[in-house]
Amino acid sequence: MPFVSPKILCRRHGLTPKKSLGQNFLLHPDQARRLVAALELGEHETVVEIGPGLGALTLFLAQAARRVVALEVDSRLIAILQDEILTDLPQVEIISQDALSFNFLALSRIEGRPLPVIGNLPYQITSPLLFKLLSEKAAVRVMVLMMQQEVGQRLLAQPGGKDYGILSVLLQYHFRLEKLFSLGPGNFYPAPKVDSVVLRFRPLFREPPGVDEELLREVVKAAFATRRKTLKNSLSAQSSRLGHSPAHILDTLSALNIDPNRRPETLSVLDFVRLAQALGERPSPTPKNAPAEPAD
Ligand code: SAM
Repeated sequence: MPFVSPKILCRRHGLTPKKSLGQNFLLHPDQARRLVAALELGEHETVVEIGPGLGALTLFLAQAARRVVALEVDSRLIAILQDEILTDLPQVEIISQDALSFNFLALSRIEGRPLPVIGNLPYQITSPLLFKLLSEKAAVRVMVLMMQQEVGQRLLAQPGGKDYGILSVLLQYHFRLEKLFSLGPGNFYPAPKVDSVVLRFRPLFREPPGVDEELLREVVKAAFATRRKTLKNSLSAQSSRLGHSPAHILDTLSALNIDPNRRPETLSVLDFVRLAQALGERPSPTPKNAPAEPAD
């Protein structure tokens, strides 16, 4: 079946797009083709699509990949996809599942290789999905994701600005990010209130793994927990989360020549990595009033 405008499909099926599911469907096949081309699919690959909606991307994915696994939560759309849009495309498998609970690692193990992942994301799940994909990056070969411009800016932000935060540090540590193109509201039905941007993510694997990634995540979250505070204050307030005393955290900062009076948004990704490495390597000294170890 060729690309049919989502406006026509919605009218034909008496379907009202659900705002709560971020349903802003792509209007133009050329934009869908651009997103799919950015995955540089091999014809033997299995690709995962998040939120196929009315199949704008799915149709082009089916032409370029061996298998398409598409995760969708809206049963109204699944019915239309199965009965009308993807009828002669057995290589497409629609799975009725929340992408946030999908096991990307398990599928990649079955396929025996990391997977391309694509989605015009429902904006409500963008951040949790990015954190999930980051924790399952071993399952990912490349991701091409469309999101709100504002979230894209946060991902790409450099230290110093208001956009730089947890998402920027962690995503930039785990992925090489590229901004591909932006799309205005007129490219979607219904038109959203904001602009969108398409980013490509390629996983980075550091050899040897330089840092305990869980500790890095905790350090970054602790540092940004109270954005207006200095590192000294925010990290001290969160010290139990990091498994170190406030004094030890301060010592570690000064051993690394990081001024504890700096604010978290002034630290580079590398500064956070050094801090997490140092906290991982240097166990806290035993607190003075800790009970003595029993003698053998
Ligand atoms: N890919 C289509 C397109 O570009 O026209 C639809 C994109 S629309 C922005 C987002 C889609 O994600 C909708 O079809 C929506 O129902 C679906 N969706 C929303 N939450 C989801 C979730 N948690 N897991 C999987 N799909 C979801």
